[in-house]
Amino acid sequence: MAFELANVAHIAVLMIMLPCFVRTTCPNIISRQEWNAAAPSSSKSLRENPPSYVVVHHSVTRMCNTTEDCKLLMKSIQNTHMNTNGWEDIGYNFLIGNDGNIYEGRGWGIHGAHAISYNARSLGICLIGNFEEYPPSESQLQALRELIACSLEENKLIEDYNLIGHNQESATLCPGKYLYNEIKTWSHFNNNPK
Ligand SMILES: [Zn+2]
Repeated sequence: MAFELANVAHIAVLMIMLPCFVRTTCPNIISRQEWNAAAPSSSKSLRENPPSYVVVHHSVTRMCNTTEDCKLLMKSIQNTHMNTNGWEDIGYNFLIGNDGNIYEGRGWGIHGAHAISYNARSLGICLIGNFEEYPPSESQLQALRELIACSLEENKLIEDYNLIGHNQESATLCPGKYLYNEIKTWSHFNNNPK
């Protein structure tokens, strides 16, 4: 009897400890299926995988504050990229709404359409909104930090990665002065990207 009780106690302790062994850095990511994405017309892998750069963008669209609304906006951004721009898919690897959620774009390991000289060797992450006009919310910035941490943990980004804004690659205001000034203070920001 005492033996059985000891076993029960052991099992209880294991069950309590189990979540400690489950990796917890990765945040929830709203999948393409969840936001009802259209299938890409084609796709190819990154040339450099895992990539060495994170390129940060803003969408220059309205903001979205609820998950339901962000899903609709994701559809709209994908439509513009595929039907107006003629791209094979939504341009970015991931997007982040003001609901604090991360939305799967092309996903990890896929060649992007967001910054010509980095498309084959970066993770392109777009924060939804216009950060030339107002600052990103703390929940969006937190989601960006978590997505980068998760990418490192999952070996989807090299450890010694470089963080840059789109404006460092070409003549654009993207990712907007408020967001750019923020990421400039982060570790791994590279003032002189190659
Ligand atoms: Zn951009």
